[in-house]
Amino acid sequence: METLMSGNEKILAFLYALGEGLDFKSMKNFAALSENFSSEIKKVDVVKPSVFNFCVETPKKILLYNTLYNSMVKLTPEEFLMLQGKNHCEKDLRQKFLESGIFIAAEIDERKNYQLWRQEAQKRNEHLSVNITTTLKCNARCPYCYEHGVKHVDFDETKIDALINFIKQHKKNSPVKLNWFGGEPFLNPKIIDAVTKKLGELGFEFDSFAITNGTLITRRLIEGKFKKWNMRGVQITLDGTAEQYEKRKGYVDGQRQVFKKILNRIEWLAEANIHVDLRLNIDRENMKDILDLIYVLQARFDENKNVVYYPAFVTGLKDKLSDAEKISFIKEIFRALANPSKMSITDRLYSFPRSLPCMRNDPQAFSVDAYGRVYNCEHLVGRKEMALGTLKRLSQKDNQARLNEPLREECASCAFLPKCMSGCASNLRTGDSACMIERYMIQAYMEFMCE
Ligand code: SF4
Ligand code: SF4
Repeated sequence: METLMSGNEKILAFLYALGEGLDFKSMKNFAALSENFSSEIKKVDVVKPSVFNFCVETPKKILLYNTLYNSMVKLTPEEFLMLQGKNHCEKDLRQKFLESGIFIAAEIDERKNYQLWRQEAQKRNEHLSVNITTTLKCNARCPYCYEHGVKHVDFDETKIDALINFIKQHKKNSPVKLNWFGGEPFLNPKIIDAVTKKLGELGFEFDSFAITNGTLITRRLIEGKFKKWNMRGVQITLDGTAEQYEKRKGYVDGQRQVFKKILNRIEWLAEANIHVDLRLNIDRENMKDILDLIYVLQARFDENKNVVYYPAFVTGLKDKLSDAEKISFIKEIFRALANPSKMSITDRLYSFPRSLPCMRNDPQAFSVDAYGRVYNCEHLVGRKEMALGTLKRLSQKDNQARLNEPLREECASCAFLPKCMSGCASNLRTGDSACMIERYMIQAYMEFMCE
């Protein structure tokens, strides 16, 4: 067995501690167990393969990744048979499997213990995250926009005090995370000015992030307002290279050479140490062009650590890509990339297990629409009937109920649960797969490594 990534020993120790009935209030047991983990684990008698093992087997290589402990190993065919219990497992290999979480003590119910850990993690939730729709107006006309049919209005300024009170009520100990979105959020910067100024006057720490098409970003904005707004990062969507991008975005304000300008703006942001996530929107029509885009981005941003990209499959279309097509296409992206870390694959492989899929089950995360209505999902803004409540009136009972959503059957037995936690409910509404991008990226990366 060749270890490519060692497992996260703390997570493993925690699962064992839970198996022994660890009392969360006295973390002493856990500390002791974590310290002596390697020797403790030698005492394990009967073992079984972890339910979070995910394996890619090709005639050339066998790779196994554990989605809960983040261990990745390369196995010989003989070792793979031993793992499956088809051949007797040697003592040394058994110990290595145990240390990386690939084998687990037979009496441990990993899924149950993971669920206990999730509940505890949720109780310790110390953040507040608020998505704020500064406007529903936009200078682009993307065909896939989920806000189709929504009225193009700005955030109601008479609701700013209610928004500040809402933040006051829900704020915990860590800085408030403000996510500015729209429409195009920078079409209405005065809302960002007003909210951040008031929070500053109250002495509240906050960080800003924005989901933007990038067209309205100027050097002056970056050097002036972005500093006042504590702007840490932006997400910009790219749909292809110049021609494809401009055709799909359909900008209505007659801007020319927008693609070229966006690339310049990404560079300015990165120079100002603002993290830029480039979301590559993919469907059957632009796949070839996305590969060309990868080469363009590589030539321009390969050395720039503040710029990373990730694939996102467009939803709500009739001609949907199958899971196999998605994985095969991500593999093509990996082949095209000189540096796979640009696709943030390392972060996804090493990420801490999720306790929640996304904001929808997090009672400390909200999306606020232009009318001051509050939602549990950013894709619902402007749809009154789907609101949880308003900035002034939000039932705590309804809000806390967000935590209790049961897992769908296919998720309850899925090896990717720690990376996905049952995925995106909004995608299910459009008849798309709920699985988070990690599910596709990790498999594609492992298959790529096996080539
Ligand atoms: S349900 Fe989907 S769209 Fe809504 S917040 Fe979660 S991941 Fe985002
Ligand atoms: S949504 Fe998909 S990847 Fe996520 S847990 Fe469910 S089946 Fe697994």
